[in-house]
Amino acid sequence: MSEPLQYITLTAPDGEIIGYAWTDGTQLGLVDRAASSSAAYKAGIAWSNRMQDAHRRGLTPAGVLALFSHEPGASPVTEAADMAALEELARIVTPADDQRLLDQLAPAGHPSWRELAEAYDALTDEDRDVTWGGGEKSPSGAIQMPYPVYSEPLRRVVRALNEVGAVTPEHRWMDNPMPEVPADGRLMTAADAVRAATAVVRGERFSEGTIAHAVKDGLLDAVVASLRAWAAAQGSTAGPAPSAPAAPAPAHPTAPSVPSAPTAATTGPARSAPAPVAAAPAAVCRHCGGFPAVNVAFRAHLGLLFFLRFRRMDGPVCRTCGLALHRGFTTYTLCWGWWSPLSLVLFGWLTLVRNLLAVRRVERLPEPGPAVTGGRFDPGVPVHRRPLAYVALIPLCWVLTLIVAAVSGGG
Ligand SMILES: [Zn+2]
Repeated sequence: MSEPLQYITLTAPDGEIIGYAWTDGTQLGLVDRAASSSAAYKAGIAWSNRMQDAHRRGLTPAGVLALFSHEPGASPVTEAADMAALEELARIVTPADDQRLLDQLAPAGHPSWRELAEAYDALTDEDRDVTWGGGEKSPSGAIQMPYPVYSEPLRRVVRALNEVGAVTPEHRWMDNPMPEVPADGRLMTAADAVRAATAVVRGERFSEGTIAHAVKDGLLDAVVASLRAWAAAQGSTAGPAPSAPAAPAPAHPTAPSVPSAPTAATTGPARSAPAPVAAAPAAVCRHCGGFPAVNVAFRAHLGLLFFLRFRRMDGPVCRTCGLALHRGFTTYTLCWGWWSPLSLVLFGWLTLVRNLLAVRRVERLPEPGPAVTGGRFDPGVPVHRRPLAYVALIPLCWVLTLIVAAVSGGG
């Protein structure tokens, strides 16, 4: 696209640039700033929705821009050479963007900094040598996805990164490149350390093995060293910042369980470990191929007198397919999951709770990209709008009646 564009700059009340609404004469769009705050990002969506509404009601794209350019927070209509020029503008990271990330960090002297220092210093070579579990065949014939087995000390470091505030929704890691490990052991800026910590820790939920990868290539070391240096410079009482980040040394822990890895180093960026890593990027939906996806299982239960049936569908699923599975399976369980003694006291509840936990992870996903393999499920209406779900009221009322009778009967 090298057509000249018209655009208006959208600015939040605090002066932060939200993004740029543009038109090439036929289309209307918004380029948001990948480095913007979460509030600005949401404001951008609201602007975009309102502008699309106006367009649908018959205004031309240029008319929409002209109209909205008079609103508070919008600039006059301006011209850009082409789309690339606008995207260049949107990539600018301002000092205010960096500062916003630093504002998420615990103040220097907060106990969480000491915890981070202690947790990190306690890491051993064994903790750094992340192994992979899974891969076994279950009786039903399904092969369990391989998953990284993180040691407790390594989990403690990850928790500490959360506690110092280095993992934050203010960094939209999916829209931004991963900060690189600085060469020759230099420190990252603290803002970049926050970006990297967020991308690694959040990324683990979407693609298991992200933390293992960061441990291996020294990114985790660089993040912790940079954050500790920042805290120390703020006058922290936390453990002393390491004089030079120890990144290079532990970046290659001797890995006895990984045969022939060193010579394979030329094959790709640090992804030289054997089989398990190859299976790690399981981040596409198994039903529609959409990205991102999260590995969760949804369950359904049927209990009729002495007949019990358990259904289970394993992930990874995208947000749309996950919601569809949750609604279908949960409604089924609400209807059929109560009619045996064990179901009523245990399995019905267990199934519902596990589905709720799973759907909470699914709901944290953004909308998936295009369905690559077709077959995306239709989520349909929510559970509370499905009549079958209300069958659950019958056994629940009955149980309630029993309890009330027992209590009022003095027993
Ligand atoms: Zn899907």
